[in-house]
Amino acid sequence: MLAIRDLSKTYANGVRALDAVTLDIPRGMFGLLGPNGAGKSSLMRTLATLQEADSGTATLEDGKGGSIDVLRDKDAVRRQLGYLPQDFGVYPKVSALDLLEHFAVLKGLTDRKQRREIVDGLLQQVNLWDVRKRKLGGFSGGMRQRFGIAQALLGNPRLVIVDEPTAGLDPEERNRFLNLLAEIGENVAVILSTHIVEDVTDLCPTMAIMNKGKVLLTGRPMDAISALESQVWRKQVQKADLKRYEAGFTLLSTRLVAGNPVIHVFSADRPEEGFEQVAPDLEDVYFQRLRQHAKAA
Ligand code: ADP
Repeated sequence: MLAIRDLSKTYANGVRALDAVTLDIPRGMFGLLGPNGAGKSSLMRTLATLQEADSGTATLEDGKGGSIDVLRDKDAVRRQLGYLPQDFGVYPKVSALDLLEHFAVLKGLTDRKQRREIVDGLLQQVNLWDVRKRKLGGFSGGMRQRFGIAQALLGNPRLVIVDEPTAGLDPEERNRFLNLLAEIGENVAVILSTHIVEDVTDLCPTMAIMNKGKVLLTGRPMDAISALESQVWRKQVQKADLKRYEAGFTLLSTRLVAGNPVIHVFSADRPEEGFEQVAPDLEDVYFQRLRQHAKAA
C-alpha cells in the first residue's frame, strides 16, 4: 500500500535523521516504534509532505490501480492523507463543532449540507458528539486527541499518520484512543508512531523498530517475539548488583517489583544460577534490538 525505499535525510546540523529507511506498510495498523530521536517524526513529516528527503522514494497506491509518488506529487498525497502531528494545537476558544467545520472547509468540502453530514458523522465516530458545542480549551488530553483524529479523517484519507498520539494520556483515555484507531485501521493504512511498546503490542499486526535513523526490524510482532523464544531470562537481584549485571550481560530491562529490581537478560544459555527462562514479549524484542544496535555502533 505504501512502499518506502532508501529514504535518507540529513539536517543542516549534520544529524542523519533518516538513514536509508526501507519499509512496506500495508493496510491496517502499522506500529513505528523507537526511542526519542529515532527519526520517527522526520519520517512522518516526510510522508505527510511537510519536509523534503535528500534521497529515496515513497510510493502510495492510489486505490484505482495507480500509484502516487509521495515525494513529488504532494497535492495528490495530501488528498489521500490524514495527519495528526505530535504537537497538534487547537484554538481553545472555539467549539469542537465549529473548528471541525472550519477544517472541513479548508479540506474543500464546500457543499454546506454535505459538510454538515460529514462533520456530524465524524464527531459521532470519535465519541465527541455530546460535547461538540464545548470549547476545545476545556477538553482533556484524550478528547483533544480524538478531535485530532476527527480532523485527520476529513476527506476519507487512505493513509492516516499519527505521531506519538498516546503520550500524556491516562490509561483509560489511551485505551479509548487506541480502540478508535483500531476501528479506523480496518479500512485504511494507519501509521502509529510511538515510543510506548504496549501501543504496538495491543493493536498493530505489523511494525517496525527504528533507532538513530535506521530500521532495526520490521515484520509481525508475533514473529519477532517467537525469534527470541528460550533466550530471555529473568532474575530478582539486589540494587547494588545492578551495575555488575549491566556490565556482564545483555540486560534488556529492569523493573522494580515490590521495591526490588527484576531484570530480563538476553542469552542463548542460562546466564548464571538463579535465572529462570521467561516467555519473551515485545518489550524484550525492542530492547534486544536497541542493545544489539548500540553494540554494533
Ligand atoms: P523521533 O520522532 O523519533 O523522536 P525525530 O525525527 O524528531 O525523532 O528526530 C531525529 C533526529 O533528528 C534527532 O536527533 C533530532 O534531534 C534531529 N532533528 C529533528 N528535527 C530536526 C531539525 N529540524 N533540525 C535539526 N535536527 C533535527
